[in-house]
Amino acid sequence: MNKSKLADEETKLVEASDNENTNKGQKRLKAWVIVLIGLSAALISAVGAWALTPKFRFFGFSWEKNVEYEGELVIENGEVCFGTFLSCERLDMEMSGEVDMEELGEYKVQYSAHFKNRHVEREATIRVVDTTPPELELADLDELGESERKVLVCPNGKIPQIKMKAEDRHDGDLTDRIETMFDGNGMVIIAVSDESGNRTIKTVVGLVEDALAPEINVNGLEAKTIVRGSEYEDEGATAVDNCDGDVDVATEGTINTNEPGEYIMKYKAKDETGNESEKYRTVKVVSPEDSNRIVYLTFDDGPGEHTGRLLDILAKYGVKVTFFVTGRGDDALIKREYDEGHTVALHTNSHDYAYVYSSVGNYFADLYAIRDRVKRITGYEPTLIRFPGGSSNTISAQYQRGIMSELVGEVGRRGFQYVDWNVSSGDAGGASTADQVYNNVVSRLGDGRYVVLQHDIKGFSVDAVERIIQYGQANGYVFLPMTAESFLAHHGVNN
Ligand SMILES: [Zn+2]
Repeated sequence: MNKSKLADEETKLVEASDNENTNKGQKRLKAWVIVLIGLSAALISAVGAWALTPKFRFFGFSWEKNVEYEGELVIENGEVCFGTFLSCERLDMEMSGEVDMEELGEYKVQYSAHFKNRHVEREATIRVVDTTPPELELADLDELGESERKVLVCPNGKIPQIKMKAEDRHDGDLTDRIETMFDGNGMVIIAVSDESGNRTIKTVVGLVEDALAPEINVNGLEAKTIVRGSEYEDEGATAVDNCDGDVDVATEGTINTNEPGEYIMKYKAKDETGNESEKYRTVKVVSPEDSNRIVYLTFDDGPGEHTGRLLDILAKYGVKVTFFVTGRGDDALIKREYDEGHTVALHTNSHDYAYVYSSVGNYFADLYAIRDRVKRITGYEPTLIRFPGGSSNTISAQYQRGIMSELVGEVGRRGFQYVDWNVSSGDAGGASTADQVYNNVVSRLGDGRYVVLQHDIKGFSVDAVERIIQYGQANGYVFLPMTAESFLAHHGVNN
């Protein structure tokens, strides 16, 4: 073999081996292509299956959403259909589940649809929320321009006088929760938040100034008439300042209740800024003998269930009255009447017209019975009396003609003095309310002496007493208990 042959052989061998390598590479490539084609086919068929398999399809729904409290619940305008990606049959959609638009909270609702015998249901969450901030009204300020809105701020930082109101659609009136703050840069910040954290803020210009003096409130009557020698305790006064709240009141003046005359009580109050105010009470001390305005309040037919309350009212005003008592009621009440300085006088033990007016003997038997009761309770023997029905009554004629004419003389011979009245409160007929009793009494009062008839067994009549006293004390009347020397207001006798 020559060298060139050998070289040829070698070349052939190399060529053969190159061919072999090229064949291997082509085979690998083919395998990859097959795999890729296979995968693509699988993918395409999966996508195709997804797109082409008929099923329920929802479009355009939001599965969680917030709706405003008290607003309108809008049903989703999404769509549901049954079919494939390419062709889908639209279906009616139903929503079920409760959403209370009046109640904040989270609600679950179901959307559902039917296609032939197939059924689908999906849940959605609806939250009823409050995102509306409260309304804040600043009475007079709201109408003004921003630079004109000004409020006074006390030197101590308190903001005394902004008329404001806050109202929230969900929480209602939030006026109590309005916060005000003076920020030190001359601005007053007024803010209010609702329960859901929605906040409304307004600002106004603050002017530091305290122009108002304390306001004094005189306790009790500002003008008052009392009887010489009676006890007087001043009821005082209180004062409130716009910036400082309650402030002390200094009282000046004394009243000599033994010396008739007109006295002035002076009340003074001062706030931190130095603003001062004053108020007065006039107290007239009168002697009964000099007074041309005297009222004797008298109460018949008790004691009874309203007598204790009446005694409390009388004690409050230091007024003494006269009780014409009967056989009824608690002994303790008669004792109280007597101990508290009122006149206890005699009315009747039985208050039975048929009995007391059928004979003089019966009348006195009945009168002595009530006299003995009072004496047993108080140790005191009254001589003032009032006939059942008064001396002018005509009912007694039904039981014995002329008995009143006989009795008015006979009681005097036996050491008694009888009392009638010249002002009837009407509480035994006519009047049935405290207002009527009050009006019947005060409309009759002028200058003079008045014996007023009331009944302490009538609650509405007792209810009128406080106002009658207030009217009297404010109009120069002296209230006195009756004595043997009093004006007795006798009626004409009619039987
Ligand atoms: Zn009576």
